[in-house]
Order: sequence, then structure tokens, then C-alpha cells
Amino acid sequence: MSAATQTAPGARVVNEEARWKYLDHIRRTPGPFTDPDATSEEFLAQFEKMKVLVIGAGGLGCEILKNLAMSKFKTIHVIDMDTIDISNLNRQFLFRSSDVGKYKAEVAARFVENRVKGVSITPHNKKIQDFDETFYKQFQLVICGLDSVEARRWINAMLVSIAEEGEDDPDSIKPLIDGGTEGFKGQSRVIFPSITSCIECQLDMHAPRAAVPLCTIASIPRQPEHCIEWAHIIAWEEEKPFPSLDKDDPEHVTWLYEKALARAQEFGIQGVTYSLTQGTIKNIIPAIASTNAIIAASCCNEAFKIATNSAPCLGFENNYMMYSGNDSIYTYTFKHERRDDCPVCGRKARPLEVDPKSTLQELLDSFAVRPEAQLKKPSIRAEGRTLYMQFPPGLEEQTRPNLGKTITELGLIDGQQVVVTDPAFPLEFNYFFRFKKTY
Ligand SMILES: [Zn+2]
Repeated sequence: MSAATQTAPGARVVNEEARWKYLDHIRRTPGPFTDPDATSEEFLAQFEKMKVLVIGAGGLGCEILKNLAMSKFKTIHVIDMDTIDISNLNRQFLFRSSDVGKYKAEVAARFVENRVKGVSITPHNKKIQDFDETFYKQFQLVICGLDSVEARRWINAMLVSIAEEGEDDPDSIKPLIDGGTEGFKGQSRVIFPSITSCIECQLDMHAPRAAVPLCTIASIPRQPEHCIEWAHIIAWEEEKPFPSLDKDDPEHVTWLYEKALARAQEFGIQGVTYSLTQGTIKNIIPAIASTNAIIAASCCNEAFKIATNSAPCLGFENNYMMYSGNDSIYTYTFKHERRDDCPVCGRKARPLEVDPKSTLQELLDSFAVRPEAQLKKPSIRAEGRTLYMQFPPGLEEQTRPNLGKTITELGLIDGQQVVVTDPAFPLEFNYFFRFKKTY
């Protein structure tokens, strides 16, 4: 009697040898770009021992975990603190309606383990900040499928500090593969911490989207969103159809939609819909399952190449692949250069344009919108003195009066070195003042 006939009806029978046939062929057959050692038995055995960390078990994370398991990675850990919401089910395909309310990391790990024999996935229902260096040092590769810039910056700073501490030890360099999607757009990039351009060097790629100027909205709309913003900001204020706007109330949204539609028709603009109205006023960008699939595939391809040396990977030459599905399909791969003045992997202070007549409060507020800093709770000190500290409360109270003083009144000079910190990031930003000329 064969093994298949002994299996209970309905059970999944997978021929393991057939499953890995083509993958093994790629690993064992050298091509023109294959590292000569990559096909040795010793190196092939090393791949089996690789320990990979996946951060995020959402839209990208589900795809990444499935792809890694199907690429024969055997030891995987996954971190995600979130629980499953019913709205995740259309694309986060490792979850079922009976899983709503359970931890994403846990459910995803069990699902993939059940489907792919021999893979071990350890879930952590926690924040990345709950773990220290010792935890991160056990991995050879980190793959991020996150939607938060803060979390990316944190793990990046952690991996750069592990690499710098490790100095000449090649094992201390943990390649970081980062995927990200927004609607039909996405990117994947590979970072060799302390060697190549890091997430912080590339922070300007995540600059907050510029707001549409009010004059465009008020006078010359060109896009359906401009008409919706007009209804939202101007028409609503003028007409006050309801006492206060509730963005979840269909009656309110319908009012805005009809106003926006009338304005769009007046200017010959197409594309105002109810769902676009809802998305625009709530600032929602839809998550697209196929964008996640494409970006996760690219990330896992890079992971496979780094782990097997079977072909050149992103990282040293080109390190950033951007993808856009907005207007047919477009991808562009380029080299993002490392910055000497990067607060994480660089050493140099960067210039900070300052008006000496502005107050310390105004200066601190400006850090929230500076593309390379994006700090919400900055503290600042100059050589030998604290100018303003958010924490602890005693020091905050003591330094608060400085907020109302101008740069000149505080005795700060052109060329002054300052250090800016923020509780969200394990790093310091070094700046020197460059006074703006005022006439
Ligand atoms: Zn950097």
C-alpha cells in the first residue's frame, strides 16, 4: 500500500521531493553570476541554518512569510503586536474570519507551518522596541514589511549600532531588506548596515506629502481631490449643513460628495466618487493586494539571493527599487548614496538654517516638518547646556521658559553646535547653526 492511500480523506499530500526540485536546481547549478563557492555542499548546508527575522505580519508580512517558507528558509521569527481586524481579510490571506481578534504573528506562523513541512516560525506578539540587542544579534537577515516610518527608523538604528559595535566581525552585519507599499506604489531596498546608505540616509524618500495650497483649492481645481477638499474646507464652513462634521456619518459624506461633484462638473473634472470623497477627507490610501504581492516577492528574491549567493543582489551598487502601478507598470532601480551627515551612520553635523530672531519654540516646531528629522517631541542642548528637555518633568519645567526666548536672547551664535534628541529614536541629531541673513 502506498503512503498516499493510507492518508485520511481530504488531507493534503505533498511530495516533498517534487516541491523543492526546481529550487534545489537553482541553488545547485551555477550561472554566470553565481559565486563559485555558492554550490559547494558546505555552503548549501549553511543556508539551511539561516535564521531570518520578519517584522510585520500584515499585508506585506503574510506574503513575506509564505514566500520565505516556499523558498525553503527553515527558521523564521516574526514580530507583530497587532490583532486581526475584519477589514484585513481581503488581502492578509493567512487569516480567516474565525481569527478576528487573535494576534497576527501567531495565526500567520501557525498557518504557514501547517502548510509547509519543515519550517519553524516563532511568533512574537510584541513591539520591536520590547527586544534588545541580544535578541536581534541571533539573526542573519531582517526583512521589514511595515507601514510605520518610526518602526523602520528604530530597527535601522538598532542594526547600524550592532554593526558598528561588531567592527570587523562580518557576522555583525545583518542585511536589512525593507518593503513598503502605498496604494499602487511601492519600494524594496536592501541595506548593509554601516556600509551602505541606511533608512535614515533615505528619510527624505518618506517626506510627508505636501498639502495642496489653499489657493488651488479655492480658485483653480485640477484634480477630483481638489474639488473634495474645497467641499470639505470651504463649502462646509460657509454653509454648515450640520453642526459639526462627522467623517463616519454617511449623510455628512454624501453632502460633501454632492458638493464636490457639482464643483467638478463646473470645472470639467472627472473622477469624484463617494469612496474617493471618503478616502480624501479621512486621508486614507487603499491597500492593494497585488502591490503587496509584487513588493514582497521582490524582498524575498533579494533574501534568497543574499542567503544563497546564487545571483547578484540589491545592496552595494543599486540598492533601491521603486515600483509604480499608478499609470501602467513602471519600475526604476538606482543607488541611493550614503550621507556623511546621517544621524545614524554618519559622523558629521549638518547645517541648520536658523533665523536668530525666531524663538526656541519655533525652532523646535520646525523639526516636525524637516524631511530629514521628522521629530514630534524634540529636546535640544548646546555645548555644555540644556536648552529644552521634554523629560523628565522637573527638567521640562526648569527649561520651559527658554521656549519663549529668541535664539539671540539665549546667547546662541552663528556656527553653534546643537544636539537634538527625540524619545522615539535611539539616536542623536547633530547640527550647527547657520544664521539666515536678515535685512
Ligand atoms: Zn545613514
